[in-house]
Amino acid sequence: MHIIETVAEMQAFSREARKASKSIALVPTMGYLHEGHASLMREGRTRADILVASIFVNPTQFGPTEDFDAYPRDLERDTDVAAAAGVDMVFAPTAREMYPQGFQTYVNVEELTLPLCGASRPGHFRGVTTVVAKLFNIVMPHVALFGKKDFQQLAVIRRMVTDLNMDIDIVGMPIIRESDGLAMSSRNAYLTPEERKDALCLSAALRAARMLLGGGERSVAVLKEEVLRIIGEVPEAQIAYADFRDGDTLEAVETADGRTLLALAVKIGKTRLIDNCILGEEN
Ligand code: AMP
Repeated sequence: MHIIETVAEMQAFSREARKASKSIALVPTMGYLHEGHASLMREGRTRADILVASIFVNPTQFGPTEDFDAYPRDLERDTDVAAAAGVDMVFAPTAREMYPQGFQTYVNVEELTLPLCGASRPGHFRGVTTVVAKLFNIVMPHVALFGKKDFQQLAVIRRMVTDLNMDIDIVGMPIIRESDGLAMSSRNAYLTPEERKDALCLSAALRAARMLLGGGERSVAVLKEEVLRIIGEVPEAQIAYADFRDGDTLEAVETADGRTLLALAVKIGKTRLIDNCILGEEN
């Protein structure tokens, strides 16, 4: 496996690959790789001749008071994980390489970025869509894989690809969890042992809502009360949102069905965690 750090080299590599009629899969990440990332890479391996993973902690998707500086980084370990998952090429540019002096062009998806993380993290999705559009132009993949852990991000990227006529297949992959239910995340590294236990309230709340729906309860008010009760049992938990939305449009719903999205963002101490499920799906 090789590592490329410049845009010019990455584009040259992909241009050659395409000229040789090779297909390219891309898994964009911010590094500090875990089994969730690896699952995307293994799937990517099966979908193209060449598998590229990008590792880039993207400054433009962090707010001024967020954890850009603290975000965990370990490129050496990441390259081992990527190689084991079948990655051929890691693209790991610097921030300066991606955003040189004079940079001033951004991609913005409108309605879909208004609720949920868009509301609680202003500017976040503008940074995400901009960097993903750049990565698409740099790596020139035929297919790109994203996790449903970031459900809204996946929806926003699908929208961008459709709206801007990008000729790339977007594949959404299931959430990978620890054995006790916690969704894997690079940010789990921030949690103290006590917070690690508290963090289980997110997956427990999702499970409870799925169970209630399975038992016939359709009222979002009732489902939400149970979600808030479970998370409320953890004194250190602060809810940014706990929303029931249409799984396609992300519009708020009052009556739930199997296709309803329950999306959570909860701060455990200083760590902001997100999780979600489609209520009718095993998760
Ligand atoms: P990140 O490095 O957190 O930006 O994530 C990079 C990609 O991995 C995104 O498409 C995420 O949705 C995906 N991802 C992160 N955590 C998980 C997980 N637990 N299960 C599945 N995909 C994940």
